[in-house]
Amino acid sequence: LPKRYEGSEPSVWVEYIQLALDYKPLNLGQGFPDYPPPKYVTDALLEVAKGTKHHQYTRDFGHPRLVEALAKLYSKLIGRDIDSRREVMTTLGAYEALYATITGHVDQGDEVIIIEPFFDCYEPMVRYAGGVPRFIALKPKNTEAKFLSSGDFVLDKAELEGLFNTKTKAIILNTPNNPLGKVFTLEELTFIADLCKKHNVLCISDEVYEWMVYKPNEHIRIVTLPGMWERTITIGSAGKTFSVTGWKLGWAYGPANLMYNLLMVHQNSVYTGCTPIQEATARAFEKELERLGSDESYFVSISKELEPKRAFVAKFLQEAGFKPIIPEGGYFMMADWTPLESLVDLNAETDKYKDYRFTKWMTKNIGLQGIPPSVFYSEEHKSLGENFVRYCFIKEDKNLQAAADILNKWK
Ligand code: PMP
Ligand code: GLN
Repeated sequence: LPKRYEGSEPSVWVEYIQLALDYKPLNLGQGFPDYPPPKYVTDALLEVAKGTKHHQYTRDFGHPRLVEALAKLYSKLIGRDIDSRREVMTTLGAYEALYATITGHVDQGDEVIIIEPFFDCYEPMVRYAGGVPRFIALKPKNTEAKFLSSGDFVLDKAELEGLFNTKTKAIILNTPNNPLGKVFTLEELTFIADLCKKHNVLCISDEVYEWMVYKPNEHIRIVTLPGMWERTITIGSAGKTFSVTGWKLGWAYGPANLMYNLLMVHQNSVYTGCTPIQEATARAFEKELERLGSDESYFVSISKELEPKRAFVAKFLQEAGFKPIIPEGGYFMMADWTPLESLVDLNAETDKYKDYRFTKWMTKNIGLQGIPPSVFYSEEHKSLGENFVRYCFIKEDKNLQAAADILNKWK
């Protein structure tokens, strides 16, 4: 590997997807629905595929109909006019949006603040750009509660403030957070925004789970806070928004001067996204724009659909002896597995971190797969993730029931 990629190893996704193929466990690992996406979304793609108009290259920075729809939607949501030509870009999944944002803005030696637990690709992306990640972990403020909520995990304000300095280029925020499910509050976002303004720092806001938020929590876009438009790039994903993760379509929006850097990275690495997928997604957004905020809106119904699944998983995990952390948003649940340690042969696996050994042993011996959360922490903070497992709950009820049965039978 070239020097800048040194230390890269196959990610947890590469390893655990193979593990699932080899052992065929009930898979609550990688985050994707195991049931069909909304019909109007797949119908849109069907119509596009049958036609002849949308099978060639489209516009470089985003298919016109889609950037138009995205600009319309987010203009409404953030209360300012977004220019569809210069302030929105579509990408190959939120992954590319993150990559273009990070490599398009971070220079050699720049520091980037990453809040832990974090979606694992942030760290290598910052390093590939020559940047220096500076980590700060969300920590539980009340470990005695019977049910911990993701809201119990908070940042130490003084610690966060101490990370900002003249070398700080950016902070990466992820709300609702993967894997914890934390939905940052207005108070927390205001504190972060004030530091960004004070130190002239870019805010990269990964909001791919923006529509999966459980009452009474509310998704707040940090870009809407005073003085933040000019320093925020917000990232979204059609895969998460419409439950079509295989479409690998994402986007970023922000002020034209900041977006320019992303456009340069995209232009010389990807150039144009997939036309039929973008056309179909544009049609899906147009439908949602018509019914925004109403009960028929998928952006409203998706959380309602997930809420009982969240409750069911929390209940069966608890009954099996885990200590779940109830997520305020997203579709993952972290749970402390250590009360079950005596039932698990951790020595059967050789991995460095206990959560890897636990999840592998579970996949191979019990037939239930989860993700080891230490991957969402920096090397020095891996221990904060080791006692946990992450389960995905955007799964058919019968499969969640099957997971419950597996745990019941095991105990
Ligand atoms: N950010 C977060 C927090 C994620 O969980 C994911 C995975 N969906 C991504 C970004 C990447 O999204 P995509 O599948 O659209 O590339
Ligand atoms: N975001 C999803 C998860 O966390 C998918 C991961 C991925 O595509 N690498 O499970």
